[in-house]
Amino acid sequence: MTFADVVLPLPLAESFTYAVPAAMQGKIGIGFRAIVPFGRQKFYTAVILRLHNHAPKGVEVKEIHSLTDSHPVVNEHQVRLWEWISFYYMSPLGDVFKAALPSGMKPADLETKYTPKTENYIRFHPGLKLDDAEKNIGKAKKRLELFREISEILSLKNFISSKELLETTGYSAAVLNGLIEKNILIQYSEDVSRIDKRVETSRKPFALSEHQQKAFDEINRCFEEKNVCLLHGVTSSGKTEIYIHLIEEQLKWGKQTLYLVPEIALTTQLTTRLQAVFGDKLGIYHSKINDNERTEIWQKMLSDSPYEIVIGVRSSLFLPFNKLGLVIVDEEHETSYKQQEPSPRYHARDTAIMLAYGCGAKTLLGSATPSLETFYNAKTEKYGLVTLEKRFENMELPNISFENTQELRRKKKMKSVLAPALIEKINSALESGEQVILFRNRRGFAPMLECKLCGWTPKCNRCDVSLTYHKNRRELKCHYCNKTYKPIYECPVCHEKSVELIGMGTEKLEEEVAQLFPDAVIARMDTDTTRGKNSYEKIISDFQNKKVQILVGTQMLSKGLDFDNVSIVGIISADGLLNHPDFRSHERGFQLMLQAAGRSGRKNRQGEVIIQTADPEQPIYRYLQANDYEGFYRSQLAERKSFNYPPYKRLISIVFKHKDEQKAESGAVYFARLLKQSLGEMVLGPNKPIVSRIQRYHIRDILLKLDNNLSPAKIREFIKSVESRFREKPDFKYVVMYYDVDGIS
Ligand code: ADP
Ligand code: ZN
Ligand code: ZN
Repeated sequence: MTFADVVLPLPLAESFTYAVPAAMQGKIGIGFRAIVPFGRQKFYTAVILRLHNHAPKGVEVKEIHSLTDSHPVVNEHQVRLWEWISFYYMSPLGDVFKAALPSGMKPADLETKYTPKTENYIRFHPGLKLDDAEKNIGKAKKRLELFREISEILSLKNFISSKELLETTGYSAAVLNGLIEKNILIQYSEDVSRIDKRVETSRKPFALSEHQQKAFDEINRCFEEKNVCLLHGVTSSGKTEIYIHLIEEQLKWGKQTLYLVPEIALTTQLTTRLQAVFGDKLGIYHSKINDNERTEIWQKMLSDSPYEIVIGVRSSLFLPFNKLGLVIVDEEHETSYKQQEPSPRYHARDTAIMLAYGCGAKTLLGSATPSLETFYNAKTEKYGLVTLEKRFENMELPNISFENTQELRRKKKMKSVLAPALIEKINSALESGEQVILFRNRRGFAPMLECKLCGWTPKCNRCDVSLTYHKNRRELKCHYCNKTYKPIYECPVCHEKSVELIGMGTEKLEEEVAQLFPDAVIARMDTDTTRGKNSYEKIISDFQNKKVQILVGTQMLSKGLDFDNVSIVGIISADGLLNHPDFRSHERGFQLMLQAAGRSGRKNRQGEVIIQTADPEQPIYRYLQANDYEGFYRSQLAERKSFNYPPYKRLISIVFKHKDEQKAESGAVYFARLLKQSLGEMVLGPNKPIVSRIQRYHIRDILLKLDNNLSPAKIREFIKSVESRFREKPDFKYVVMYYDVDGIS
């Protein structure tokens, strides 16, 4: 008797075993989809993980109902990767499966079903005698004219799409239908691809500069010994062009490349650049493509002519590659590589390394500001390290200077949100036809309303956070759950009209800047202005085409954009970036500011970056000014060591949520107590997080700071055993609980 272990698209930790009916023997294998019964009269699409002949003990084994495929849709590498993600990130295997496979490929779940795209075509009726045709049409003039035009078209090719025909001839559908009714023409429909588009190449890869060539050779040498290599190259050092050469090499070897980018960096700037070299060998996989397209891309990857290169966001690492040679993780330090919600909470960079390892491929991590963990791995020779210190064509790195806002305020020189020196520099940049980027890491108009008498602030009634005022829409908004409220001007405590706007978001900054530079065209880029389908691209192209002189925005601005006419970058209230109570806040701030600075600089002139801060003496600014990544890295590393943080410890946080605060609290306390029995001091908490209520759920968390030498398997086994004891308590049965492994905040 053969049994199959399968995974179901349900948030269940385990795989399930089914019996393989005799008729299916020999027709089934790993990675096939099958329809299986589960629960009461329900059927699901499952994927076969393994076949064996160990009958499960003590349970009734159901039979597989039917097979969906005659060939695998998932390969063995993928199955093993799913299992690794589920194990390492402590996520239910079913969640991984759900995230990995497009919904259209799991039809029995009655989620969005894959529907092919069809188009209508026109050809001559097979029974038509051309000579008699005009006689049959009779006297209808338009019909006759259309027929003559169609005859001409169809003499060149046998068919034409109905839509195209009506568009080119300008006749109405009624006229065309007349010819169909008369049995002159027939209309039929056919499936068409959503993704197959001819893309012509327009250039060869550029010849590499001497520095680039050296880096390229070093990367290849490094791959002879190591599986992972870090390319640490300053902004605009030509990393992308090196990637292009590496991809070209993979093509020669008949291997595929996966090019991972953070969500926001997947711009047309980058895809156009890659398409120019690789044409339709390149597939693009981002979060705005719909499930039908996802399914078609998946099917194409299984076909005889798969994409040889895929550029995509984190979920693209689930695609079925069959001859993967290289994975590039661009901007590897980006936090959006870590999935936060929903489960599986995986880190795409680290998962990419596992994917490559499983396929015998190599991983290249690239960044101007590597994450501390990655740089540590490179310095300790776990990964290779290749460095590019110069910008392409020796273009200079920007000059970074500071404006002390506290002092300026004291001397009454801050007449607006911008320091006088910054205003002056912007004016002269505008006069010379150059552009300006102003960076403020907070969207909305004013972050908060506050009573000037008693300090009361309006908060979201579902989440424990202050609301942000959005002037445009005249509303208060919760940035955690998006609930909106009417603004309040009368303090409910003092009963006075004493509530005022305090602080400043991008919307307010935009307004102030417009007043300061009335002749300049100003645009704003943040999550509020980029919600529409092409709005993000539009803002970028307007800026690139110099329709806009000053671009104001949040961190979205700092990512992977390449502008050639920006001479000033202003970072407004940098302190806000550094004051988060998070052990990574300085690392983040440093990365963000250096990346933002990287947007400045022109071919022949050094760019300028002005950072406004109340405390320019902080050490981080010295490193920034000197572009001293390594110095900054060493200083941070020392802190991480003394405070027991990664890379010296591994973090797992355990989150508890319940609408009843008491349940969340006592559940977390109980769980922590069980953990401490074995893990002692490595268990911290439970803590009440800063935002301790979201969407009516009260939150508590436990943080584990684990020694690096502990076996991940043993630790997870132990935590899971604690989890089962926790679940045995009726009180905690409905506490929502999940793990966040290697969390980023
Ligand atoms: P990075 O990825 O490090 O930010 P890019 O690869 O985008 O750097 O290079 C910066 C700029 O220099 C781009 O405009 C790019 O087209 C140009 N560039 C880089 N390498 C070359 C090359 N070998 N020949 C010509 N132009 C290059
Ligand atoms: Zn008040
Ligand atoms: Zn809320």
